[in-house]
Amino acid sequence: MKRPADFDEPNCREVIVVGGGIAGLSAAIYLGRAQRDVLVVDSGHSMAKWEPVVQNYLGFPNGVGGEELLKNGRTQARRYQARIVRDKITNVSSRKSIFVLKGRRKTYRTKRLLVATGIFHLPPEIPGVKECLGHSMFFCKDCDGHRVRGKRIAIVGQNNEAVEYALGMLHYSACVIVATNGKRALWDRQHARWLEEYEIPVARKHIRDVLHRKRKIRALKFASGQDAKIDYIFTTRGDIFYNQLAKKLGAKIDSDGQIKIDQCMRTSVPGLYAAGCVTPANCQMIIAAGQGAAAAQAINRDLFEESLASHALRRFREAQLEQDKTVPEISKSKPKRRKK
Ligand SMILES: Cc1cc2nc3c(=O)[nH]c(=O)nc-3n(C[C@H](O)[C@H](O)[C@H](O)COP(=O)(O)OP(=O)(O)OC[C@H]3O[C@@H](n4cnc5c(N)ncnc54)[C@H](O)[C@@H]3O)c2cc1C
Repeated sequence: MKRPADFDEPNCREVIVVGGGIAGLSAAIYLGRAQRDVLVVDSGHSMAKWEPVVQNYLGFPNGVGGEELLKNGRTQARRYQARIVRDKITNVSSRKSIFVLKGRRKTYRTKRLLVATGIFHLPPEIPGVKECLGHSMFFCKDCDGHRVRGKRIAIVGQNNEAVEYALGMLHYSACVIVATNGKRALWDRQHARWLEEYEIPVARKHIRDVLHRKRKIRALKFASGQDAKIDYIFTTRGDIFYNQLAKKLGAKIDSDGQIKIDQCMRTSVPGLYAAGCVTPANCQMIIAAGQGAAAAQAINRDLFEESLASHALRRFREAQLEQDKTVPEISKSKPKRRKK
């Protein structure tokens, strides 16, 4: 039996999720289980792929690979009839409450659109660093602070955030330095005072490259010829938010580039939702998954209300009454009396 919304909009999906990372897959599982016609369009570059062992995701006491989490998420979503296709959406428009998505391979149409396109953490511009991403070069102390306890840590950055990162890392290690990589320090006086007060060394020289072996950082090599023995690098260079589709549709974006949402992950554009790192969520997998689920619930409710208002549910029910058995069988035998 077809679902209610299929009656009025052929060739148009009930929901399209752009982005098959952690937030998008979580939404697809919920929407599939809610019997919605859901399509996930994904270009295949989830940040989760960078993490070899996720240690902070509920239910995996021994950790789980980011790739494995994604693979299982796809299998789980498909189990509930969510379709997942590989494509990159390059343009979007809306016409009469229908979103039209232009992909590199195909054009898609949908009534509800969830943008779960994520972000890109910019690594420091230092030769040798990229090879160590997710192994000894990190972006997030909530994700990775715990695994670097007692190690030698360099925070590469030159702003207030870098100073606060260094202060925060003191919980995990006594050996923390800030490396500005030859750039002018932009931190304010208060942050400069904290660096002095907490005796955090600052390396101001240009970093020529990073010495590493099997993705494990050994040292920072400065242009001056000196080395600093370091085990891990964190950086505060910033993020690129993949917000273009929401922007194109007129959604409000904050000054950092994050898509503004309400508690139900609704953007300022009717029918358009956003979830995961592209919103003001703290960029964590479990939060992205939770937001994806919350967005899916809101979309499901929204479609339900629409089907009542448009009488699509009514027409669906009429078809059910014609085709299906709609009344449970009632037994004719009387209940036995209990003996006194
Ligand atoms: C090195 C590293 C280590 C990390 N370690 C941890 C950790 O240990 N624990 C933790 O909680 N978090 C960790 N994170 C963060 C975690 O990866 C993110 O929080 C999570 O992946 C965010 O999920 P998301 O769905 O918002 O975005 P993503 O998972 O990045 O997914 C976004 C998806 O959208 C797709 N997409 C983007 N634009 C388009 C488009 N136009 N058309 C089609 N598809 C598109 C992308 O290809 C991608 O697949 C780490 C991140 C990095 C970089």
